[in-house]
Amino acid sequence: MKGYVFHGPGHASWQEVPDPGVKDPADAIVRVDAVTICGTDLHILKGDVPGVRPGTVLGHEAVGEIVEIGSNVHSVRPGDRVLVSCITACGRCRFCRQGTYGQCQGGGGWTLGHLIDGTQAEYVRVPFADLSVHALPGTLDGKDAVLLADIFPTAYEVGVLNGHVRPGDTVAVVGAGPIGLAAIATARLFAPERIVAVDLAATRLEAARHLGADAVADAREAPEQLVADLTDGLGADVVVEAVGVPESFEMCTRMVRPGGHVANVGVHGRPATLHLEELWARNVTITTGIVDTSSTPTLLRMAAAGRLPTSDLVTHTFPLDDMEEAYDVFGRAADTGALKVVLGGEQHEVVAVRAA
Ligand SMILES: [Zn+2]
Ligand SMILES: [Zn+2]
Repeated sequence: MKGYVFHGPGHASWQEVPDPGVKDPADAIVRVDAVTICGTDLHILKGDVPGVRPGTVLGHEAVGEIVEIGSNVHSVRPGDRVLVSCITACGRCRFCRQGTYGQCQGGGGWTLGHLIDGTQAEYVRVPFADLSVHALPGTLDGKDAVLLADIFPTAYEVGVLNGHVRPGDTVAVVGAGPIGLAAIATARLFAPERIVAVDLAATRLEAARHLGADAVADAREAPEQLVADLTDGLGADVVVEAVGVPESFEMCTRMVRPGGHVANVGVHGRPATLHLEELWARNVTITTGIVDTSSTPTLLRMAAAGRLPTSDLVTHTFPLDDMEEAYDVFGRAADTGALKVVLGGEQHEVVAVRAA
C-alpha cells in the first residue's frame, strides 16, 4: 500500500510501505477513506516533535471502514464505518479509568503518526480498537466526520472546557487556524458575551467572523488593547492559545483578566517566558493539555444533528494519492488560504454508498 512516510526534519514522501496487519488481539485494521493533515504534522516536519522516528507513517485523523479485527475486539466489525480518533486508549490504566485517555500509560495516548504508523495511508492498524474508534452515525459524511478525529475535540476540551468558558464571558482566541476556529465554534455553545479572534492572516480573520467571532484583531496591531477596550480595561475572562509560539503564549498572558483562564492548546517547540513578575498576584489559571477525546461521542451526535460547522473549515479536497500536493497547499496556508485539507472523503464511492 501507499503511505506518507517521515524521513527526518524537512523530508517526507508518499511511497510504498508494507500493509499493516493485526499484531495484537485488540487491534483493528481500517481502510482509510478520508484523512486530513494537522498542524501537528507540520510541527513534526519542522522537527518540533522529536519522538517521531524516521520511517514512521504520519497522520492521526481519519475516517474509514473496518476490514479486519483481532480476536479481542467486540465493539466494531468488518464493514463498519468508523472515526479513527487521534487518541488511542488502553482502558485499564489510572488515566483511562478517569477518562483522561490522552495521558494513557498502557500503550495508548497520542501514538498514531507519532510513535506508531499513522493514518496518512491506504490502511492503518489501530490498537485498542474498542476504545479508539467510534462507529459513525449513518447520516454523517466522512469529510465532516474526519474533523472530529482531532481538531473539534481538541479545541473543545483543551480550549473551551479547560478555559472554563461561561455564559457572558469575553473569550479571546489567539490563532484562527483550524483549532482556533473550532474553539470559536464550540465556545459559542456556552453563550459568551463576545468572542475576539486574533491572527496575522486576513483570510483567517474573515473565517473567524464567519464562524462566530464578534471582533477580530490583527496580531501585529496591539490586540491586547482591543480586548482591554472591550472589557473596561479588565481583559478577557478566557484566552485560548491556538498558535504554539512563545510570542502568542506571552500575548495571551497579557490579555487575560485577573482571575481569568489562559488555556494553551498550541504545540510548542520552543521555550516561552512565563512572566511571573506580572502574573504572580493576578490569580490567573494557566492550563496545558493534549486532547482526551472523551467528548468525541457527544461531538459526533452534535455533528450528525448539524450542530457543528465542520464543513465550513474544509477549504481543499484531494484524492488520497495527492498527499504531497495536499501537504504543499496546507503548508503554505498564508498563500493558499488553506484551513483544513481533506484527502479522500466523498470522492470515495464506498463512503457515499454507505452514507446513503
Ligand atoms: Zn492533529
Ligand atoms: Zn490507558
